[in-house]
Amino acid sequence: MAKDNTKCSFCGRSKAETNMLVAGQEGHICDYCIIQAHSIINEELSIGKPKFDSNFKLIKPSEIKHHLDQYVIGQDDAKKVLSVAVYNHYKRIFQPKHKGKEEIEIEKSNIILVGETGTGKTLLARTIAKLLQVPFCIADATVLTEAGYVGEDVENVLVRLLQVADYNVEAVERGIVFIDEIDKIARKSDNPSITRDVSGEGVQQALLKLLEGSLVNVPPQGGRKHPEQKMIQINTQNILFICGGAFDGIEKKIASRLRANIVGYGVKNREEIDKDNLIKYVSPQDLKSFGLIPELVGRLPMVTYLHSLSRSSLRKILREPKNSLIKQYERLFEMDKIKLTFDEGVYDFIVDKAIEFKLGARGLRSICEAILMDAMFELPSDEGKPTQLNVTVPYAMEKLRITSMEKLKVA
Ligand code: ADP
Repeated sequence: MAKDNTKCSFCGRSKAETNMLVAGQEGHICDYCIIQAHSIINEELSIGKPKFDSNFKLIKPSEIKHHLDQYVIGQDDAKKVLSVAVYNHYKRIFQPKHKGKEEIEIEKSNIILVGETGTGKTLLARTIAKLLQVPFCIADATVLTEAGYVGEDVENVLVRLLQVADYNVEAVERGIVFIDEIDKIARKSDNPSITRDVSGEGVQQALLKLLEGSLVNVPPQGGRKHPEQKMIQINTQNILFICGGAFDGIEKKIASRLRANIVGYGVKNREEIDKDNLIKYVSPQDLKSFGLIPELVGRLPMVTYLHSLSRSSLRKILREPKNSLIKQYERLFEMDKIKLTFDEGVYDFIVDKAIEFKLGARGLRSICEAILMDAMFELPSDEGKPTQLNVTVPYAMEKLRITSMEKLKVA
């Protein structure tokens, strides 16, 4: 068979070395070069444009919190800290330069959110993103590794931000990055390791460079750095980092620190400690004891927490947020001209099951899905379909009974 000699006319890569080769009249261009050309065009076109949108309106912390309240149940402390951090982030990047006035450099305050999985950390970050007028992206710390190891280079966290900002470097440099599962890169013991710790300390060191504000070379389309690839240089000094993690077992570290403090301060303080809610005392010290390196903790000065969700919070999550699960299903049925209603007891039943199967808020959706699956499958094509579906407790029980519980647990 004849060998395909088609090459990219720009970089010379053979067809096999590219993901896609687009043919022109007299030549070809590969996907790598298209992305690079795109970023060059964006860079060039953004020169001379006004730096920031003159219509930009500073959103006050209370307004940010009000917005969060519509989508996220509870978690007031975390909402407050986030609102202030985002507000200050705006102030820092949009501060007017006053001639003759002494320049005061406002440092950014990266944030760390500590809370069990499924308590709303990502939801908070996503909801804030909707309100923002700066690029925002979510990255997962678990896929990151030290340069040279299998996995993603830390710089790739910024690739997503570049994509969101349509390769506008200036916009990226004032963006916000949410790094999820930061606790998973904690070192395994409290003591610095002698051997190299691929998944932990090395990654933390690498992340530190991003967080502390430095010039980082980012491969425009992600993946491994490639010798011939044109890198995009990003200054991370003004990028706000919000990190989230479950920090399983951190209560023990908090408790032992508090115990040590109590010894120092006398017995009186002991009564004031809310033992069922130790997470609210979380401090940078506890994050260090958990296995984050002190330098990284130092770069995340705002530490806040999310409560585990109570039964009543779970019940509220079902119905109260602006786009609550129940409202979403009601809308889906409405599109088929069916009015979906629930007996009050069904909400309690769903919450009970979520607690029983230890699924938390994340499980609410899979339980609702299981209850409504048959109706969603059958009713749209039912000629004589009813105009109303009222879900009763026995109906919900029956539908859940025939669903494999193992399936729900995967959610
Ligand atoms: P985390 O990032 O803390 O692991 P998520 O934010 O991804 O958890 O939450 C998972 C899902 O649970 C969300 O999509 C949302 O539907 C629901 N949820 C969790 N916590 C809340 C909350 N406080 N208010 C409203 N919904 C919530």
